Amino acid sequence: MKSVKSQLDQINMTIREACEKSGRSVEDVKIIGVTKYVSPSRTKEAIDAGIKHIGENRMEGLLHKQETILRDQAKWHFIGSLQTRKVKEVLPHIDYLHSLDRLSLAKEIEKRLTDHVLDCFVQVNVSGEESKHGISLEDVIPFMHELKEFKHLRIIGLMTMAPFTDDQELIRHVFRRLKECQLEVQNMKIENAPCTELSMGMSNDYRIAIEEGATFVRIGTALVGKDIE
Ligand SMILES: *Cc1c(COP(=O)(O)O)cnc(C)c1O
Repeated sequence: MKSVKSQLDQINMTIREACEKSGRSVEDVKIIGVTKYVSPSRTKEAIDAGIKHIGENRMEGLLHKQETILRDQAKWHFIGSLQTRKVKEVLPHIDYLHSLDRLSLAKEIEKRLTDHVLDCFVQVNVSGEESKHGISLEDVIPFMHELKEFKHLRIIGLMTMAPFTDDQELIRHVFRRLKECQLEVQNMKIENAPCTELSMGMSNDYRIAIEEGATFVRIGTALVGKDIE
């Protein structure tokens, strides 16, 4: 398996190119190293290579990594769908939630948080694929209105997953729609929804996502590979 460092060099080059092409600044794009397919030691290697954000899609994987890696050695992102009954247990372990997709989840988070505010992304299913989690584009604005009352949630952005396809233009279209939606939310000027971020782009499509405005790219296989499962 190639070193994380060499993979990261490659990824940083792609990010630089995508930023140049779209007139963006590289400082505005952050890499979340998605470690769901790798061991704690490989995760540690990513942190040593300079990765500051770690993403996990399951509670068990997250807790397992945090047995080896100190809580404050990285920013921890929960990127998978979150069951309401797991909220209480997961909250102390995460800095960002990428999968806010229903009111009942927001209510539970609000109930469990007392002394800090959680940075959240609202997950949007732009493509309408049935297999994907997230709310539809039309529901984003009404959902933002509903979220206003939750003082312990800060909606820092929107998150999406592109459809599983080779059609690059379709993927680009999905990312572009999310960007347009982000601008609409920003225009609402809701106090707890600055919505300055866009979490989009994975190993196969992060270049396109950056060209379309991603501020967080969630990269697993292309960065750390797979060493478990
Ligand atoms: C697994 C996963 C990723 C990373 O996928 P790769 O294709 O391995 O880069 C990104 N986002 C979410 C929500 C994931 O579940």
